[in-house]
Amino acid sequence: MKYYIPLIFLLSTLAGACFPILQSRYVTAADIERVPQSYDAPLERRNVALPCGQWADYLPDTSHLDHTPMRYIRVNVHWMNSADTLFKFTGKDAEVYAKNLIRAANYDLEKNRSMYLPYGNETPVLPTRYRYLLTPRPDDPNDDGIYFHYDDELYYYVHRGKNRNLYKRDVFEKYGVQMDTVLNIFIMPHHPDSIASPTYSAFGVGVALSNAVKVAGIYANHTKYDDYWGFRGIWNHEVGHILSLSHAWVNDGCDDTPQHDQKCFSIKQPPPCDTATSNNVMDYAAEQNAWSPCQIGRIHQRLATENSTQRKFLLPTWCTLKDSMEIVIRDTVEWNGAKDLEGHLTIERGGQLTIRCRVSMPPGGIITIAPGGMLILDGARLHNACGELWDGIVVQKIANEAGKLILIAEPKLEDMKHTLEE
Ligand SMILES: [Zn+2]
Repeated sequence: MKYYIPLIFLLSTLAGACFPILQSRYVTAADIERVPQSYDAPLERRNVALPCGQWADYLPDTSHLDHTPMRYIRVNVHWMNSADTLFKFTGKDAEVYAKNLIRAANYDLEKNRSMYLPYGNETPVLPTRYRYLLTPRPDDPNDDGIYFHYDDELYYYVHRGKNRNLYKRDVFEKYGVQMDTVLNIFIMPHHPDSIASPTYSAFGVGVALSNAVKVAGIYANHTKYDDYWGFRGIWNHEVGHILSLSHAWVNDGCDDTPQHDQKCFSIKQPPPCDTATSNNVMDYAAEQNAWSPCQIGRIHQRLATENSTQRKFLLPTWCTLKDSMEIVIRDTVEWNGAKDLEGHLTIERGGQLTIRCRVSMPPGGIITIAPGGMLILDGARLHNACGELWDGIVVQKIANEAGKLILIAEPKLEDMKHTLEE
């Protein structure tokens, strides 16, 4: 009890004192800082490396991981079988297996390992910042995103030979569900005739056809309940193709992915394979669990590209304002890649944020520039990527100090509820 009296005394003293009050208001044209004419030119005339289109600008910033919100790729799973259920792996067991396979693939995305190749490399290991989310039809409470189809014409997969059908899309056309917004993954048996052939190996294999995936080999190799771990690499590899990655051993546009001897499958094989086997997700090997920085950057670049096929598979996390996803800038930060924010954006005292590309603010989202904070919109485009309105830019002032907004090279301010003119 004895602490109450001094506290009340302190509060009454403060209330009676004259001290500066923090004022907040929406930014007006009068608040905008002018820049010298010579600087107010498009980026290409200022010797600034052109932003927005470089994969390096889409790498997760490990000092500010919250600036790269997690991306969720919506997926569903189809189990193909013959009309008389030739393959006995079906029903509840297959459902649990599919969920575990997704969990195992997400496990590797979360872990991301250092690459085995080049041997002794010190390539940074960055967080992948994407995951899979099993996604049923929203209007059907009985749908869990896992489907079973029994069809003698379409159930099988043939990788080689005159009957090969891996590139055919007919199974997608007949059985695909929410193909535009959910990545459909078809688990298919190798054809019984293929399995019977001594020259055909019914191995784990897959193919990515622009917007859907076929995986084969699970039925033939499934022996125990937890062998989904053995197929997570194929899953991540095929989705890697969907997300625009090429094989690591070809000219894939990534200098940090390894060239190597593809005869090596495992580091457990004798030399030279003990030091010459790849574990990159886009190689063929026993382990496919390493994503290079370039691969991660390219994926996020594609996911941030408006109207791309890949972006349509994303859960639109940026369409709901979340208080927990506020980004607070306290140091000097440049955003040269496009972003989809899910919370308010605040530039605190001492913080300086330069935006050069597209940034989607969530519906109702507010950008606040505190006294001593600075926001530079350098050819940027601020908008809402859900067809709704974000709130606007608030400048705070205390005594004679206000937050600063600097506009360069005609940034576009779209979908703002409180526009600059008001
Ligand atoms: Zn491949």
